[in-house]
Amino acid sequence: MIETVLSATHMPFWKQLVTSIDEVLFPRQCIVCRSFLGSSPQRDRFLASGFDNHHVLSSYLCPDCFGQCRPLESPICPRCGRMFSSRNTGDHVCGECIGDRKPFHKARAWGAYEGALLRVVYSFKYHHKTFLARPLGSLMYAVLQRHWRSNEIDLVIPVPLHPKKLRQRGFNQSCLLIRHWPHNADWAAVTEPSTDWLVRTRWTRSQTGLRRKERRANICGAFSLQGRPPLASKNVLLIDDVYTTGATVAECARVLLDGGARRVDVLTLARAM
Ligand SMILES: [Zn+2]
Ligand SMILES: [Zn+2]
Repeated sequence: MIETVLSATHMPFWKQLVTSIDEVLFPRQCIVCRSFLGSSPQRDRFLASGFDNHHVLSSYLCPDCFGQCRPLESPICPRCGRMFSSRNTGDHVCGECIGDRKPFHKARAWGAYEGALLRVVYSFKYHHKTFLARPLGSLMYAVLQRHWRSNEIDLVIPVPLHPKKLRQRGFNQSCLLIRHWPHNADWAAVTEPSTDWLVRTRWTRSQTGLRRKERRANICGAFSLQGRPPLASKNVLLIDDVYTTGATVAECARVLLDGGARRVDVLTLARAM
């Protein structure tokens, strides 16, 4: 087993040996179902050098749980990013977006918020498995590069938490997800997020369990701008972990557009179907 792992990575020999011994003494478990995982050349490759391995989740999940993760792909709604269940059609604006024009220009996500991915996000946010920020963030970075050109984004703004929530949780999951994005001169704007301009000024009850209209009412007026941020004519990319009904990012987008932003787009890790 050790030989297989050693030959599959570009890590220094001593590091590979330590990793292998570590795996024997502390065998890794699936984040979701806790079944034990074997050695993972993909994980080692990712940790050693890669940031573009879209199979990175297979390093943290058993094959069954990994198989439950459903990346979003066409046909989708070009505005809200909803994936259509019928595969016999092209991308088209969904009924909801026709009836209810959203303030943001377009929203995209990596995967469907269901099954194993839902539980991975839950572990990341509520069980403090913050080491997941890097692999999950890498999936979002791949979506960013697939759906945007670098000159389409001037500012990246993570959805802020209320200060009380930030103290309770200890971290803002949206900030953490993009913290490890690689530095790239072409994408300079995305590696220096603006975290001080948009603030959450009103405490709101959790959106979980609320219906669409209730979510919208609950989040209304929760965000505001701090100071006089130079948003004029800027294209902003909002970052959040999950897009459920879009009420939170729509409210953020409204505030940013009122503040002068030209366009607001949305990137999340997961999206409710
Ligand atoms: Zn599993
Ligand atoms: Zn739509």
